[in-house]
Amino acid sequence: MSSHIVVTDEMFFNEVHKYITDEKSLDMIRRAHEFARQKHEGQFRKSGDPYFTHALNVGYILATIQAGPQTICAGLLHDVMEDCGVSFEEIAELFDEDVANLVDGVTKIGNIQFKDEKEYLAANHRKIFIAMAKDIRVILIKLVDRLHNMRTLAFHKPEKQKKIASETLQVYAPIAHRLGLSEIKNELEDLSFLYLQPEKYREIASLVDAKKAERQKLVDQMIEEIKAMLLEHNFHFRIFGRCKHLYSIYNKMVTKNKRFDEILDLYAIRIVTETELNCYEILGYIHAAYRPVNGRLKDYIAMPKMNMYQSLHTTILDRTGNIFEVQIRTEEMDSVAEKGVAAHWSYKEGKYNSASEQKEIENKLGWFHDMITMMDEAQLEHPTDFMNQIQKDIFEANVYVMTPKGRVIELPNGSTPIDFAYRVHTDVGHSMVGAIVNGAMVPINTKLKTGDVVNIKTAKGTGPSEDWLKIARTATARSKIKAYLQKKENEDRAETIAKGEKMMAEEIRKRGLDEKEYLDKSRYEGIYGQLGVNNYNELMYAIGIKSANPSHVVDKISNIKRPTMVDNVTLAYMFKAREKKKKRTVSEGGIVVEGIDNMKVSIAGCCMPVYGDPIVGYITKGFGVKVHRADCPNIINESSRLIDVSWDESQEEHTYECWLRIDAVDRNFLISDIVTLLSQYKITITGLNSEVLPDKVNSYVEIRIKVKDNVQLQSVIDNMRKVDSIVSVSRIMK
Ligand code: MN
Repeated sequence: MSSHIVVTDEMFFNEVHKYITDEKSLDMIRRAHEFARQKHEGQFRKSGDPYFTHALNVGYILATIQAGPQTICAGLLHDVMEDCGVSFEEIAELFDEDVANLVDGVTKIGNIQFKDEKEYLAANHRKIFIAMAKDIRVILIKLVDRLHNMRTLAFHKPEKQKKIASETLQVYAPIAHRLGLSEIKNELEDLSFLYLQPEKYREIASLVDAKKAERQKLVDQMIEEIKAMLLEHNFHFRIFGRCKHLYSIYNKMVTKNKRFDEILDLYAIRIVTETELNCYEILGYIHAAYRPVNGRLKDYIAMPKMNMYQSLHTTILDRTGNIFEVQIRTEEMDSVAEKGVAAHWSYKEGKYNSASEQKEIENKLGWFHDMITMMDEAQLEHPTDFMNQIQKDIFEANVYVMTPKGRVIELPNGSTPIDFAYRVHTDVGHSMVGAIVNGAMVPINTKLKTGDVVNIKTAKGTGPSEDWLKIARTATARSKIKAYLQKKENEDRAETIAKGEKMMAEEIRKRGLDEKEYLDKSRYEGIYGQLGVNNYNELMYAIGIKSANPSHVVDKISNIKRPTMVDNVTLAYMFKAREKKKKRTVSEGGIVVEGIDNMKVSIAGCCMPVYGDPIVGYITKGFGVKVHRADCPNIINESSRLIDVSWDESQEEHTYECWLRIDAVDRNFLISDIVTLLSQYKITITGLNSEVLPDKVNSYVEIRIKVKDNVQLQSVIDNMRKVDSIVSVSRIMK
């Protein structure tokens, strides 16, 4: 590891001169070097070093992997936008647009803030990271930037060290691996390991150290034997031993559950030769001389890995039974293995990396494909499907946009500022009055693109309008808008009803009538039909909107005589009812059947009424009374077998089962959030089905629960509707 090398200007330029001789490029690199030095003047790192040392290190590492001149310049300048307020235009003017785009890309990625692990899986981080970068060179610079920051992590507080190291291990190292940047990946992993588990790190490091001399002797001996044999056959080659890096040893110990000795029992040797044919010939000689271990021969020359890695791998035994892993490859393959992508675009004199060249490399790498294999290697059954899926996922299904503070918001493609606003917060959506995208005011139906920075303008006392329903793309935004409009309508209605009541009261007072008597709601019952309304609220609403006249209404109710005496017929009816009441059945579930005793009563399994629901009894043939919800479609046409039933209000607490269906935009932890909500009500779950729909975006959950009554049930439904990404919640029949 080169962590302790102090990089000087001279070392940097020496590295650059090794492969760049074109005067125009050299001049640009010299100017970028000087510009960055001046701009960072007076700024210092946590280590106390001048800030410029960081920029210089990033440029230097990029030069060691032979990145092109633009990439080197952007590496030197990567922090000047963020830390020195230099604009895109200034960089484009002084250097070129390509350099400005790269610096801009690195700056944008640097501003991404990931939520904690619980909400966003590392796989998502990587996906967003890649989707935002757009240009592989941006990723390359960002990886090198992170590498130098990791090398100097000692100067941060332990808590911060752990956070950065864990992000490096989960997001950056896998990306480096997939781009085939194995050296960078190994160093990122070992440094992360050091900060995340310092004790384990030191333990393994000292074990490796202790065995070093012994191991070295065995490897050297084997190298000498193979060397002698190959020289006899006139091969041109290099041969050397390799040491495993600490994190990979640790990882094997944990994942394969092996002891340290078992892992270190493997000695590694690499042979680098001239041609592909040489590789196969050398393999033949080695297998002739040593016993190969069955099933360990891998031909990555004929079948390269996704990250373009090519090599032959075999495992052999020496005469005393030591195991050696031998890699055989050409110089070119070795360079790809060490430098990955960078090897492919190692700067070729006089040739700049064009956009089409970059595209070609990306295609060759099939790296979107890799993004998915990285997420789940085991799922890879239909490679082309997955390739399509991930491309769709990144370019069609989702856009990644940012808040001004750099928080990434993931939205389906075609989303607008309205969707963004509701995703940020319901209140932001409800009070949105306009949107600024990338610094410019835009219409609210503008389609957002990956990388857009969206700033929502809000104002108090405003609200969504009906039109928004046509603009919003996400189900979440639409359902929140609908709920708002519905609530507003209800509020308006309540206001109008109150106004109607006030107008009535004024009319009654004006006429000097008895307010108590005339404002009694039951007083109005007899006139609903004449006024074309169904109930009290409708009547007051009609008055409120002035479609009914209060004076006219008072006239009408004055004409109705209130009953003052109970007549004989009524008396007889009341008596009969009381008689009937003597016979009744109260079921275990707290259901009362009047007029019959010893009745078998049970709750219908289709509509599953809960306490408080309007219910009706259905007399079955031989199974007693089944209690349905009054509106259950199964009994609606069965009037001859229906009898009145009611809930026993004096009953002890009982629970009732029912099914809910929850439709949602699929996300991590959806079911766990639903279960958490139910547990807050201490509600028991007795069944659960869930499925992600074929569109891979929406999902549903059906859940069977036990509730106290319909009030509790309604409260559960109301609160569940507020859970993020849930679109609708309803009671269903089974
Ligand atoms: Mn930096």
